[in-house]
Amino acid sequence: MDIKDDTIYRNREHDVSEHHDQAIPPRVKLRIFDLFNGQCAICSSLVVAAQYDHVRSLCNGGQHRESNLQLLCLPCHQDKTRADVAEKSKVNRIKAKHIGLKKPRTMTRCRRFDGTIVEAKRER
Ligand SMILES: [Zn+2]
Repeated sequence: MDIKDDTIYRNREHDVSEHHDQAIPPRVKLRIFDLFNGQCAICSSLVVAAQYDHVRSLCNGGQHRESNLQLLCLPCHQDKTRADVAEKSKVNRIKAKHIGLKKPRTMTRCRRFDGTIVEAKRER
């Protein structure tokens, strides 16, 4: 987000709670609906069942505030949620690897069809 965006939203920031589990107040939903002219932020179609989405998802460190909210249609919201969860899993996988949490390989050898036993080449 650029600086200009931030100044537009700054005086509204207090309207959404810091607590992630708190519902978005109706007045904020109305403002966001108007801001996006009732159109989905991704596919631009007119939104029927309005979805209020965190641009940067909460599970990926996004904030529960108006400047981090956008209007989406249901299919786009579902797609985005899937992508957010996938991103979170990927970040966790990489983090686990970096701090050495990845489990060691449990299968250290295998048998070929001809009966010869092969040792696993590398540790993971
Ligand atoms: Zn859409």
